[in-house]
Amino acid sequence: MDDCIFCKIAAHQIPSTVVYEDDKVIAFDDLAPQAPVHTLVIPKDHYANIIDGVPADVLAAMVNAVSEVARAKGLDDGFRVIANTGEVAGQTVHHFHMHVLGGKPLGENLV
Ligand code: 5GP
Ligand code: ZN
Repeated sequence: MDDCIFCKIAAHQIPSTVVYEDDKVIAFDDLAPQAPVHTLVIPKDHYANIIDGVPADVLAAMVNAVSEVARAKGLDDGFRVIANTGEVAGQTVHHFHMHVLGGKPLGENLV
């Protein structure tokens, strides 16, 4: 996708603070962190969201990347994973991504 900012980050055409990377996924710190740890995990290939036909091996690589982020960031007490999907959820970047949030008590409320 030519105009997709996350495709450009995945291709290292836009700089980011990379936390983890392999052939299928890349994890990098969010530009506007909402918690002490706020890292995004994205597939290198473009999918609009979590239900846009993402292959099982890519989903598995994403979950593995989440655990690599948790390890790298020392999130031993736990963390939250969020995948905003579509307008109702306020998805602003339409390239599938998982937010990994942690480093402070996050509270019980999801919204
Ligand atoms: P969404 O609301 O779509 O779930 O979240 C998109 C996230 O991407 C936001 O938390 C926003 O701060 C982050 N973001 C948007 N553009 C960039 C960017 O160019 N670099 C980085 N590192 N994060 C970005
Ligand atoms: Zn993209």
